[in-house]
Amino acid sequence: MAVPHVFIFPLPLQGPVNCMLKLAELLCLHQEIHVTFINTEYIHQRLLNYTDVLIRFAKYPNFKFVTIPDGLPEDNPRNGEQVGKIIEGVEKVSSPLFREMVMMTTTNYCAPTCLIVDGIFTFAVDIAKDAKIPLLYFDTISPCAIWTYLAVPKLIEDGEIPFKGNDLDALVNSVSGMEGVMRRRDLPSYCRATDLDIPIIQHIIKQGKHIVQAQALILNTFEALEGPILSQFRALCPNIYAIGPLHTQMKAKLASQSLPTSNSLWKEDMSCIDWLNKQPNKSVLFVSIGSLATMSKAQFLEFWYGLVNSKTRFLWVQRPGSIIGLEDDDINVPMELVESTKERGCIVSWAPQEEVLAHPSIGGFLTHCGWNSTLESIAEGVPMICWPYFVDQQVNSRYVGEVWKLGLDMKDVCDRATIERMVIEVMDVKKIEFLERAKQMSNLAIASVGEGGASYQDLERLIEDIRLMRI
Ligand code: UDP
Repeated sequence: MAVPHVFIFPLPLQGPVNCMLKLAELLCLHQEIHVTFINTEYIHQRLLNYTDVLIRFAKYPNFKFVTIPDGLPEDNPRNGEQVGKIIEGVEKVSSPLFREMVMMTTTNYCAPTCLIVDGIFTFAVDIAKDAKIPLLYFDTISPCAIWTYLAVPKLIEDGEIPFKGNDLDALVNSVSGMEGVMRRRDLPSYCRATDLDIPIIQHIIKQGKHIVQAQALILNTFEALEGPILSQFRALCPNIYAIGPLHTQMKAKLASQSLPTSNSLWKEDMSCIDWLNKQPNKSVLFVSIGSLATMSKAQFLEFWYGLVNSKTRFLWVQRPGSIIGLEDDDINVPMELVESTKERGCIVSWAPQEEVLAHPSIGGFLTHCGWNSTLESIAEGVPMICWPYFVDQQVNSRYVGEVWKLGLDMKDVCDRATIERMVIEVMDVKKIEFLERAKQMSNLAIASVGEGGASYQDLERLIEDIRLMRI
């Protein structure tokens, strides 16, 4: 009988790679489970450049990396605007190679016994069928957002999208369980398209049909946060493993080896931790728009003025390439901004975010609401100001502001006065209220990954089920 052997294939972006590497490590702790992790060459090179992944995974003789091309030219920036091309590249170039790997090895002892791939990889359904092995989709974005993705055909059928008229505040009634919560502006960004015949919408419809064909769905969330949505999911895909927050699960399991780990695709500037060490408790706002989002130069200046005018201390990640056109054409930053930033700000090009959010000086997070960032903030009890960029982030920010009440939703607005007002509200006027609510949710997150907690149990069940998937 073959050993349990999982092939893990993430969408080649920072968030999904980060999540899947964590899952891989959690599985590798069980020595009889073998893991082959498929990276695109681009992602793998960046991990080699900026992290200790090779040393970290060298501890696990049951782990191996394999790399394949992503089909994109070397100089493609692989940012938010390129996501369509990245998915297309994986489908055209990487997926046939992935199929070959899966099929080639089905006849020998290192054959995969199950596939864990990103929920957007619709091609995996046929590959798993042909190899006669189970497919587990791991959708690394939020279940509340995936639920709205699955509702797209109904939204079209009910005539809710494309929107009639310009009122983005109109309530949407076709997403079951979200009535009274979702406005048009809170739907995934692609729902604003006037033409539904665009690749992303067609892909989302296709994804919905494929997700239900997998044997199971792995989700990075926890019952106390998204219980009602998870119940809806179970009616559609009975086998759900809700194992989040994955990074908290990881910390709990690797508590004895307490060094922080990193899966960053950029070089982390650790000097910000020294700076944070010098700031008062809960006084600093962390500002980051993640690995894909971009902003215009005008928005950049509004952000900067808003932060400075709020008189709050801030740690700001300005990722290279995230401010459109800044590299070709420098802007004259007004002296008042430079001087105030010297007094109370710290700017870096990439931060060790999990460590930053866990730092006692951090009191708030101005975030684009990517799901990893949102969960990392929730797990550390840090209130948020949400400025979503695209896809799932519009949904996440609505849930943060309106459902979980863990912060404020600033979507579709970017002016210095609003930024200043919201920063003051979260970091000063309603600071205690927000911190208390965030702390309660953080406690629930920690409890969910502790022994006997719902996410802990789901991970145990996943491991046990993988052990039994032998051929
Ligand atoms: N991140 C980081 N340092 C930074 C900014 C982001 O380590 O300076 C990490 C963050 O901790 C998160 C990931 O990058 O795990 C971003 O994923 P998310 O889903 O939040 O957003 P995306 O980048 O996919 O839009």
